[in-house]
Amino acid sequence: MTEQTKMDKIISLCKRRGFVFPACEIYGGFANSYSYGPYGSELKKNIKDLWWKMFVRDREDIVGIDGPILLHPKVWEASGHTTGFNDALVDCKSCKKRFRADHLIEEALKFDLEGKIDEMTAALRENKVKCPACGKSDWTDVRTFNLMFATKMNNVSGEADESVYLRPETAGAIFIDFKNVVDSMRVKIPFGIAQIGKAFRNEIIAGNFIFRLREFEQMEIEYFISPEENWESLFEDWLNKQENFVKMIGAKEDDIRRSEHSAEKLSHYSKKTVDIQYNFPFGFQELYGLAHRGDFDLTAHSEASGEKLEYFDQENNKRFVPHVLEPTFGVDRSVLVALLSAYSEEEVNGETRVVMHFPKNIAPVQIAILPLSKKAELSAVSREIFEKLKERFVCEYDETQSIGKRYRRQDEIGTPYCLTIDFDSLEDNAVTVRDRDTMEQERIKVGELESYLVEKFK
Ligand code: ATP
Repeated sequence: MTEQTKMDKIISLCKRRGFVFPACEIYGGFANSYSYGPYGSELKKNIKDLWWKMFVRDREDIVGIDGPILLHPKVWEASGHTTGFNDALVDCKSCKKRFRADHLIEEALKFDLEGKIDEMTAALRENKVKCPACGKSDWTDVRTFNLMFATKMNNVSGEADESVYLRPETAGAIFIDFKNVVDSMRVKIPFGIAQIGKAFRNEIIAGNFIFRLREFEQMEIEYFISPEENWESLFEDWLNKQENFVKMIGAKEDDIRRSEHSAEKLSHYSKKTVDIQYNFPFGFQELYGLAHRGDFDLTAHSEASGEKLEYFDQENNKRFVPHVLEPTFGVDRSVLVALLSAYSEEEVNGETRVVMHFPKNIAPVQIAILPLSKKAELSAVSREIFEKLKERFVCEYDETQSIGKRYRRQDEIGTPYCLTIDFDSLEDNAVTVRDRDTMEQERIKVGELESYLVEKFK
């Protein structure tokens, strides 16, 4: 199976089985927008819950917040987004296709001119870089486009006048709540503030299914440290945690790699930035990132707002502006990794079985309850089992179609266990448990079912 057909197969499975739908289809679609269907939203929620448990609830040094999407416009002025959060775009005059100039240059010439607009125009022309779509080399000047979505806020008289922005990243809200968290919580440095939420970017060139969206979700942490802290070891520790998380959602070791930003690509305030890349069907691309941002953000917001954003270290009687490590995780890219890693086609009795081998704790449905027929006596027992198990697990009850078709459906959804209730069940008070991965079947007494399944999901 080539990588592109794998992507096509996943996109088609996602639509057929209710994971991800193209948005606004009845209106002819809306470019690069997707809707998470019933199983996709469960999968996405499970990934977010796993992250929140690992990085917030299980840690004494990290607290969570849920900030607004619309923030004061001054936030984005101070952070530099209003002037500097731009993409460099160039059009092919011949076929009229539009591209990210920095990506074209990096691919064709293997160097990075991010942020240097005039140099990019010159590099494309002097090196006669070819258009990937039509093969000609006839470029417009490189131009910048700000990636923030602007909207208008009503003033007192109800007229829309002031421009506000939909946040282009979740981190902004964390920095401006820094003081409130320090004042209200018993946080002691080093400590982190975490947030999961939507971010919006006017990506002119979106694409690759849910890899690059205009509206997406991020899971971000700002981890505040003392400027004197040995940050290198903490940095390494965070990278390991990020890689570990990718593995927990199903990725294989060989599909993950690190890519450190070169000195030219590194932001002026960053001591070090590393991308965690995943081997997507369209090549190794950024999945997550980790950046040492120094005291850039707190200092910028402090200067712009006039509020001191400091930390008082009681033990050493010292006041300072903390430095920050920023591990950032994309939710939608995580969902795509979970889908790509889980997908498998297996030959069974001359037929192809499509199975999503999701890790059990993120599977959208954990247990399917499948009575062999719709007969009332079977339904009664099956419903009783369903009612009991759904208190503890995510269960689905399904009694339509042949058992073979129902197994195939559950395999494609990635349900780890299917329980079949047949007429023997009425006699021996037991059900058949089918394992998604091995397809082995075991007969388990109804009274032992719950503890058996609890063990299986450990
Ligand atoms: P890229 O180089 O791919 O545009 P970026 O470096 O701009 O990404 P960051 O600003 O570091 O991305 O955002 C943090 C994370 O948010 C990324 O690692 C990615 O997982 C996710 N992300 C960023 N942009 C998008 C998008 N348009 N659609 C989906 N996820 C995104």
